[in-house]
Amino acid sequence: MDLELVAIGTELLLGFTIDTNGAEIGRALGEIGVRVVRRTAVADGEADIRDAVGAALARTGAVITTGGLGPTRDDISKRVIAGLFDAPLAFDPSVWDDVLARYARFGRTPVESNRIQAEVPRGAVVLRNRWGTAPGLWLEGAAGLVVLLPGVPGEMRNLLRQEVVPRLVERGSGRVVRSRVVRTSGIPESTLAERLGEIEDDIAPLTLAYLPGVAGVDLRLSAWNLSPAEAEDRLTASAELLRARAGEHAYGQDDEDLAALVLELLRRRGAHLAVAESCTGGLLGGRLTDVPGSSATFVGGIIAYDNAVKREILGVPGAMLAAHGAVSEPVARAMAEGAARVFGVEAALSVTGVAGPGGGSEAKPVGTVWLGVTLDGETRALASMFGGDRREIRLRATQAALDLLRRRLTPTAGPGTAL
Ligand code: ATP
Ligand code: MG
Repeated sequence: MDLELVAIGTELLLGFTIDTNGAEIGRALGEIGVRVVRRTAVADGEADIRDAVGAALARTGAVITTGGLGPTRDDISKRVIAGLFDAPLAFDPSVWDDVLARYARFGRTPVESNRIQAEVPRGAVVLRNRWGTAPGLWLEGAAGLVVLLPGVPGEMRNLLRQEVVPRLVERGSGRVVRSRVVRTSGIPESTLAERLGEIEDDIAPLTLAYLPGVAGVDLRLSAWNLSPAEAEDRLTASAELLRARAGEHAYGQDDEDLAALVLELLRRRGAHLAVAESCTGGLLGGRLTDVPGSSATFVGGIIAYDNAVKREILGVPGAMLAAHGAVSEPVARAMAEGAARVFGVEAALSVTGVAGPGGGSEAKPVGTVWLGVTLDGETRALASMFGGDRREIRLRATQAALDLLRRRLTPTAGPGTAL
C-alpha cells in the first residue's frame, strides 16, 4: 500500500517546528510495509489544505495528515478535509463526553470553542485520543482514505501506534519494509565502496545505501515488501556479508555507539581510561559519560586548551611545544602519556587540532587533528584531516579518537586511514 503525508501548520513552513511527525510516521509505516511516497507541508490555510490533501488523494488515494485539529481558529483541517468528502460535520456527544472527562481530570471546564473538537464528519471513525482533547479521525469514502492526526508529537505517536497501525496492518498484505545498519568508522566512503565491490547482486533483493556522517559511514540495508521472516533472514545474512567485507572498519550495528563499545572492551581487560582534550574541549569526555555505567571504566579528563595547561598539568615540555607547535605528533603523544600519568590509568586518549574557522596555516590547515592513544605504556599517534565546519571537525575528531582506541583494543585491526 502507498500513502502520502500532509503536515499542516504554518510553523512548519517558517522553520520553527521540524516535521518530526513525518519522520516518525515514515518509520512506523515502513515496518508494516506501507510505503510513504510523498511528504508535503502546508500552512494553516483553507486553500492550502484543500489543494494539498485533494492532490494527494487524486495521486495516491490514501493520506495521513497531522496538525490543525485543535480548538483554535487556525485549526481548520477537519472542516476543510470533510469538505473533500462532502461530509457535513455533526456534534458527537460521546466525543464531547471524552473532552469533558479529560478536562474534569485536570480540574478544568472546557470553553465554548472546545465544542468544535466534538464535531465529527459524517461517516468518519473516531480514533479516541486518551492523551489529548482532539481525537484522530479515519475518513474513508469515494475520494479515498484520509487519516487526521493531531500535531502534538506525543498525541500523534500514541494514536499512530494504537489506532492507525493496527488498522493499516489489517488491510495490508502482511509484507514489511525493514532496515539494518552496519556502522563503520575510520574509512572514507569511496574507499569503503571500493572494498565492498559490486555487492548489489550478492545482497539482492535488499538495497544498500551509504550514509556518511560525523560518526563515520553507516551502511543501511533495506528489505522491501518481504514477509517479516524473510526480511529478517536476508537482513541478517547480508549484514554479515557487509561486516565481512568492511572488515576491521565495521564496529557495530544499528544504533550501537562507539564510545559504549570502547568502554566495554576496556572493562573486559580491567583497564581504566582518561582523556586529554584540546580542540574538542570536553566533547570526548561527554561522549564517554553519556554511556550509562561509564564510571566503572572512565576516570576523568583534562581540557588542555591553553598551552600552559598542556605544560603545567599534562607535563608537555615547553621546548616541544615551541619546536613542533601544539598540533603535532610529539604533543599528541605527550598529552596522552600525561593524562595516563596524572590519572594513574592504563589507557588514555588525546586530541589536539585546528577546528577553525581561524588558526589554520599552510602546513596545518583547518581540520588538521593529531590523535594520541596510550595503552599499557605504549603510545601511538595518528594524523587526520577532517572536513566540515568547526562543529563537524570537533565531532569527527571525537569519533576518530574513540576509533583509534577501539583499533588498539582489537588486535586484528590496523590503525585506520587518515581521513
Ligand atoms: P492540539 O490539540 O494541541 O491543538 P493540533 O492538531 O491543533 O493539536 P497543532 O496546533 O497543529 O496541533 O500543533 C501542536 C503542536 O505540535 C505545536 O507545538 C507544533 O509545533 C507541534 N507540531 C505540529 N505539527 C508537527 C509536526 N509535523 N512535527 C512535529 N511537531 C509538530
Ligand atoms: Mg496548528
